[in-house]
Amino acid sequence: MGILDIFRKKPELAKDPVCHMSVDVAKARATSQFEGETFYFCAPGCKHMFDEDPSKYIGSEKPAVEM
Ligand SMILES: [Zn+2]
Repeated sequence: MGILDIFRKKPELAKDPVCHMSVDVAKARATSQFEGETFYFCAPGCKHMFDEDPSKYIGSEKPAVEM
């Protein structure tokens, strides 16, 4: 058991839509459901901000280049 074992065990990461931090879904401090999707947050404070106006944060996730 070495440090490489930790890296091999890839955690599933999600992006906190409020602060844009990577959040390990298994350790997320808070989650929220919106339009059938689950969002993960680094802290309850981020969830509260998201819950107040989810579309504000989801809208900012649009890629710069439209496919
Ligand atoms: Zn956050």
